[in-house]
Amino acid sequence: MSRYTGLIEHYIDRLPVTDATPVISLAEGNTPLIQLVNIPRLINKDVDIYVKYEGLNPTGSFKDRGMTMAVTKAVEAGSKAIICASTGNTSAAAAAYAARAGITAFVVIPEGKIALGKLAQAMMHGAIVLQIKGNFDAGMELVKQLSESSPVTLVNSVNPYRLQGQKTAAFEIVDALGKVPDYHCLPVGNAGNISAYWMGYTEYAENGPSNGNTPVMCGYQAAGAAPFLRGHPIEHPETVATAIRIGNPQSWDLAINARDQSGGWFDEFSDEEILATQKLLAENEGVFCEPASAISVAGAIRDIRSGKIPEGSTVTCTLTGHGLKDPDTAIAQSSETISVDADEAAIRKVIEANMAD
Ligand SMILES: *Cc1c(COP(=O)(O)O)cnc(C)c1O
Repeated sequence: MSRYTGLIEHYIDRLPVTDATPVISLAEGNTPLIQLVNIPRLINKDVDIYVKYEGLNPTGSFKDRGMTMAVTKAVEAGSKAIICASTGNTSAAAAAYAARAGITAFVVIPEGKIALGKLAQAMMHGAIVLQIKGNFDAGMELVKQLSESSPVTLVNSVNPYRLQGQKTAAFEIVDALGKVPDYHCLPVGNAGNISAYWMGYTEYAENGPSNGNTPVMCGYQAAGAAPFLRGHPIEHPETVATAIRIGNPQSWDLAINARDQSGGWFDEFSDEEILATQKLLAENEGVFCEPASAISVAGAIRDIRSGKIPEGSTVTCTLTGHGLKDPDTAIAQSSETISVDADEAAIRKVIEANMAD
């Protein structure tokens, strides 16, 4: 039988588990690598762009990759509860994997600044949801302290097992392409994911199928939440892309290392550019990701247009989360629906008015 049973079992030789480890899995990973067919034509460039559609993980974001490892190791160590700070997706994943494991999840989120789908998930899976009058960075400091003073395991990406799980996305890309991409573009918030990808790519280069090759790592931030562009943490991060509304990234040094060792760069985008790219992907490729995810494609497009990424390149972009996570932002930027009588002639009129010549 060849049923896919999750990334831990699939990459067991490259992860810190033993035969005795009680694997907590929802069959995460193995997400599609979709080639963009219309956007390269629209920008009139000869490039291969692929999106790693992480929105198709069980809770709708790449956080499941880290959470299967973190919760597995927490349960192996006898932990009865986990805790995290979250802009939303970490809380959704923590809640789901804790439910699966039969342990308690405490999630600390910024009041009023979390996308509705993510809040629904944390509540539905039975997590204890704590909304604080403070942002993600404040929550992060609190849960770090609490994990030392209370019997709860911290499952933010400062937990090293998170990055171990997340590095498997890089393995999947190389396995799917049969080669290493030339450039890898992704959003940078707390900076765990860019660090995990770099870990995965270098591991496959040094001791795997990549033959010494690694991609150039390109990380993108929202202009209102761009500590890596400013060169220091920032106090009041603001962006519509709530998943990357972070001013004090915990994996600062690892992310700088990924950039420098790979010969890569960081860049920033306005909220308007982020939303325009989210819409571009949805309307032209049929791929619906959340705002934070779209910044990877915004970055790829800008850098391909400028020639920083040359024609002939193979580029991969991580679409970190599903568009359904944040229905409010999606609806707010879309055209209105059409009210019409329940009548064939009335609807035919609308069809005729909207058919391309
Ligand atoms: C967590 C998250 C990010 C940011 O990843 P980091 O590891 O914090 O840099 C980006 N997009 C989405 C959808 C996320 O959930």
